[in-house]
Amino acid sequence: MNCIFCQIVEKNAHAEILYENDHIISFLDIRPVNLGHALVIPKIHYTDFLTIPENELDEIFKATQKVTSAIVDSVKPDGFNIVTNNGVAAGQSVFHFHLHIIPRFDKDNFAFRPIFKNYENNSMKDYANKIIAEIKL
Ligand code: 5GP
Ligand code: ZN
Repeated sequence: MNCIFCQIVEKNAHAEILYENDHIISFLDIRPVNLGHALVIPKIHYTDFLTIPENELDEIFKATQKVTSAIVDSVKPDGFNIVTNNGVAAGQSVFHFHLHIIPRFDKDNFAFRPIFKNYENNSMKDYANKIIAEIKL
C-alpha cells in the first residue's frame, strides 16, 4: 500500500518522531498550522475514525495526552486543538487515521469560521431521533 504514514511507521520515510510505543507513533506535521503541530497515528493502517478498533483508539488518546502535555510544556502555547479530519469533505488528505495536536496562540489567525445553520421548526428533535435510532449499544 502506498501510504506515507505506513512508510513513516516502517522508517522508510523520514519524520521528526516525538514518541512511539507498540501501538502508536507521533511526529511533527510537515506543514504545521503553528510550529510544534504534531500528529498521532496508529502503527496499523486504519482509514478513519470509524474503522479503528476501540482498544487502538484508547492507545491513541493516551499517547495524545502525553504528547500534548509535552508540547504545552515546551512550546508554551496559549491553547491547543485536538482535531481529526475524516473524509475528503472534512479535509482528510492522508487516509491513515490520525489526530492532529495543534498548538494555538492568541491572535494566531487560525480559526474555524463556520456559518452557523438554524434548526427550522421541529427539525432539531427529528435530527436527534434519527441519530439516536442508529446508536449501537
Ligand atoms: P489531514 O489533511 O489528512 O487531516 O492531515 C494530514 C497531515 O499530514 C497534513 O497536515 C500534512 O501536512 C501531513 N503530512 C502529509 N505528508 C506528510 C509527511 O510526509 N510527513 C509529515 N511529517 N507530515 C505529512
Ligand atoms: Zn497507512
